[in-house]
Amino acid sequence: MHLKKYFIGNWKMNGHLKDLNQIKKVDFFLKNTKKKVNIKCIFCIPTTILSFASKIKFSKLDIGSQNISSASHDFGAYTGEVSSKMIKNLKCNYSIIGHSERRAMGETDKDINIKVKFANQNNLKIILCVGDTYKEFKTKKTFFKVKKQIKSALNKNKKNLNNILIAYEPIWSIGTGKIPTQNFLEDFFSKMKYFLKKEFKINIPILYGGSISSKNISEFKSLYQCDGFLIGGASLKSKNFIDIIKKYYN
Ligand code: PEP
Repeated sequence: MHLKKYFIGNWKMNGHLKDLNQIKKVDFFLKNTKKKVNIKCIFCIPTTILSFASKIKFSKLDIGSQNISSASHDFGAYTGEVSSKMIKNLKCNYSIIGHSERRAMGETDKDINIKVKFANQNNLKIILCVGDTYKEFKTKKTFFKVKKQIKSALNKNKKNLNNILIAYEPIWSIGTGKIPTQNFLEDFFSKMKYFLKKEFKINIPILYGGSISSKNISEFKSLYQCDGFLIGGASLKSKNFIDIIKKYYN
């Protein structure tokens, strides 16, 4: 268990320049809250507004990207691509890699492995997304599938393993309002921690992602092994995001 809890927003393909105000409001809340909270907030926002966000002096949170290119770790003739170096140059320290929505659009395990390598080359911290389909969940293949995804992502990428956060996001939970039971998650997180320690000698944060809201966050308070949350829909509005944090700590 890590004492620090991560609350990471994933805006997906949402957000205009004016919406950066939502992040400013979360920063203001974090700066002024009287509660003693050991948290790290990161907003992974569209590339179009990243450079604007990087000019804002947030006191309590970080900005990250949702993807990096697998074409190169720096610059080159790759129309439409954005490299890990370009993201890092914006003073962004984090990127999501391997989100299931990108995998569904054709991103392969090989692409993800290369992206992990490129992120490492620029010292970009990685939020590595892994997850199961409903069929895999129902047939008890979750652990097997997730181990396979992690082994593949980290294959020949054994340096800087402490720069990685793993986000377990059941594909069937994203945007659906359905969440796994706490019993399942408790057992799964324990197995995952053991696996990461045994296989890679690491004790890195493991987060949960999928339909987190202020209505269900209280259920996660007693989930001892869960080091935080990747939050999609409920991260778009500061009020929803702040309510999640408040309910988690009240
Ligand atoms: C996500 O896509 O990373 C996610 C967790 O989405 P949501 O919270 O909307 O289910």
